[in-house]
Amino acid sequence: MLWFAFRGDRLLVCEDAPIRVPLAGSPEELGLDVLFRWEIGALDGHASWAVEVGTDTEPPEGMVFRDLRGLFSGVDEDFFRMAGRAKQIVGWHATHRFCGSCGGKTEPAPGELAKRCTRCGMMHYPRLSPAAIVLVTKGDRLLLARSPGFPQGLYSLLAGFVEPGESIEEAVVREVREEVGIEVTNVRYFGSQPWPFPNSLMIGFTADYTGGGLAPEPGEIEDAGWYTADDLPQLPPKISIARAMIDDFVQRHDLDSKDLETPR
Ligand SMILES: [Zn+2]
Repeated sequence: MLWFAFRGDRLLVCEDAPIRVPLAGSPEELGLDVLFRWEIGALDGHASWAVEVGTDTEPPEGMVFRDLRGLFSGVDEDFFRMAGRAKQIVGWHATHRFCGSCGGKTEPAPGELAKRCTRCGMMHYPRLSPAAIVLVTKGDRLLLARSPGFPQGLYSLLAGFVEPGESIEEAVVREVREEVGIEVTNVRYFGSQPWPFPNSLMIGFTADYTGGGLAPEPGEIEDAGWYTADDLPQLPPKISIARAMIDDFVQRHDLDSKDLETPR
């Protein structure tokens, strides 16, 4: 079995490359102090488990606890997906030990990914926070922006959480208007990706610019601009949906320019 063991936000991985989690009969075999475990599926033919270990747990020899964000470049999508699922389930367990309604202790509800309050019976499920992420185009250019928290030089797509009572398409239009002051139309679904930092579901859309001048929202957006496919700044890692959307734009642009170059 594969053990996706988290100490807080950090995943236990073997020190040698390529990046992998320990394969063992049980986490106790590895000397881990297990607080919680939950089976999360199969990876490469091995049953896979999410495990929460105590905050003072030392890594077994030859292993190390690492931030999942730091592993982006060294893992494939299946591994990232499974590690993200483990992280979200462990994080949910760690933050729902007590009922949010009455303060009573919770216990696992048999047979489902849920916890029941031992005092009032309220059921608690893992929280998912849907977020809209959007690639806005204006002719042959796309909109990229950076938030103050981004690594230096990095630009990405606009994104924001969906608010209660709002459709995801409405969230796209509102976020773009709030963050950079422009109007968009023709909001079309691209795809989605679980994003376990801490519990987002990124839902990707493309949209067309219709009007307004770029006016980045102070405190939220440091800089925003229109970029052509052949002149892009530093982009998010390959594993992100933002990058998949930008790569798709670039590929479509390349095809368009090849069409133009073809003698007719
Ligand atoms: Zn309760």
